[in-house]
Amino acid sequence: MKVAVVGGGITGLACAFFLTQSQDHQVTLYEKTKQLGGKIRESKVGELSIEEGPDVFVTRSSEIFEIISALGIRDRLTHPSANRALIYRKKALHPLPLGLTLGFPTSKEHIFGNEVLTQAERLKTYVKWLYYNARRPRIIGDDLGQIFERSVGRSYTNSILDPLLGGINAATVYGASAEITAPQVLDLLRGIPSTIPVDKSENPLPPFASFKQGLSFLVKSLSDHLQSNGVEILRDTQVSGLRITTTGVDIIANGDVESFDKVILATPSSHAGSLLKDVSPICSTLVNAIRRTSVTMSTVLVSADLSHIDSQVSGVLIPRSEPYFTTAITLGPNKWPSWQSLEAKVLRISSGRLEDRAHLSLEPKMLVHLLVAEAMEILGTDIKVEEYRVTRWDESFARFSPYHRQIISKAQRALSQDTSSKVGLAGSYLLGSGIPTCVKSAKIAVTNISAPTI
Ligand SMILES: Cc1cc2nc3c(=O)[nH]c(=O)nc-3n(C[C@H](O)[C@H](O)[C@H](O)COP(=O)(O)OP(=O)(O)OC[C@H]3O[C@@H](n4cnc5c(N)ncnc54)[C@H](O)[C@@H]3O)c2cc1C
Repeated sequence: MKVAVVGGGITGLACAFFLTQSQDHQVTLYEKTKQLGGKIRESKVGELSIEEGPDVFVTRSSEIFEIISALGIRDRLTHPSANRALIYRKKALHPLPLGLTLGFPTSKEHIFGNEVLTQAERLKTYVKWLYYNARRPRIIGDDLGQIFERSVGRSYTNSILDPLLGGINAATVYGASAEITAPQVLDLLRGIPSTIPVDKSENPLPPFASFKQGLSFLVKSLSDHLQSNGVEILRDTQVSGLRITTTGVDIIANGDVESFDKVILATPSSHAGSLLKDVSPICSTLVNAIRRTSVTMSTVLVSADLSHIDSQVSGVLIPRSEPYFTTAITLGPNKWPSWQSLEAKVLRISSGRLEDRAHLSLEPKMLVHLLVAEAMEILGTDIKVEEYRVTRWDESFARFSPYHRQIISKAQRALSQDTSSKVGLAGSYLLGSGIPTCVKSAKIAVTNISAPTI
């Protein structure tokens, strides 16, 4: 079977990988830019190689390890040396208690030992939590913020859960799908054992990983593997249209038409939506309606004394209630062992929230000036900038609204009917935005597309 994969980010590469697991597939991958990897992108700040987009992935997902094991690169994994986050609130840095489930409290100590909250807020949270646990009401709706408010109250939700969970996607827990964003917490609230796989091996991996040579090493190893397994990789080739024929799907790219039996679209939602406009109008409308948020990632090499911050702290999160552009600061020397000996310290500063696009229009020098002034207040130290790189990720995160899963099922059903299952979808807007979840969506798309059409 001749299959085309559109998009050469991690999702498209993973689709091609799973397709090559079967001898029956002849695979062509289209990537519109000169480079593979999509949002996984490495560049230089001064002499230092840094990640402009993602810098780690969670290890509790099996599909990405199928790829890592097949490539024989498991021994190249590296893990952050610090995983604890601080929250900056009311002009001070506060640690979070250990043992929370995605920030959610499971014991009285998690509430009373929580320095982010004032004494009165702790008492109010405790009463709410106790009352909720005693009643264990049925969970109503899929709005994570509302579910949190009902179970631990507003202060805990806004000061801890919102920056921890909502902040990841430059968004908020209010109006976010609980099923997609925090399934572990839903399991906890329902009083059932978590359905999230746990590494039961003798030497379980730490929760986060990257590669010693950066995430681009995964992209490079994977594309080498694909090429040596006969995948045709067409870079600099933008797919501009799809046409369903009686026998398959025509792909239009750079003015040429090529026929395939099946196609997987592994692009961001907006690109998939426009390619499907005429092929499956319902799917296109539903996919296009997924809102997206923007972030700006500023990597700054600085001289600063950070010795007053515990070496186990990898970063600081700033709740929406605080008057800052900055949403999070990653402390490079604490997070990555190889950066500890560098003379300059690396700070990765994120800015951008849902509805706030000002960070996209500020000139880079001005933005860095502003973010560093905020970092001095937040980290409580003088900072002198040596080098910086600003990367804008416009409309890059899908916003998972309540009942997102049901909307996606409807979109996929429409696509399957309109194309007789000849076109499949994979990517960060389906099941969740993390790299392992993108890989999982790729495996599902390949399984679906490989099934015989009835
Ligand atoms: C700043 C930032 C930080 C992040 N941090 C993390 C993190 O630490 N951990 C984590 O797990 N995840 C993180 N993520 C999320 C993760 O990076 C993404 O969800 C994931 O990389 C998306 O991969 P993808 O292949 O689905 O999409 P993309 O990486 O966007 O790739 C899509 C590809 O399709 C190509 N394309 C689009 N249209 C066409 C067309 N018509 N024809 C041909 N090619 C086309 C594009 O050029 C692109 O290369 C982060 C994201 C950002 C932006």
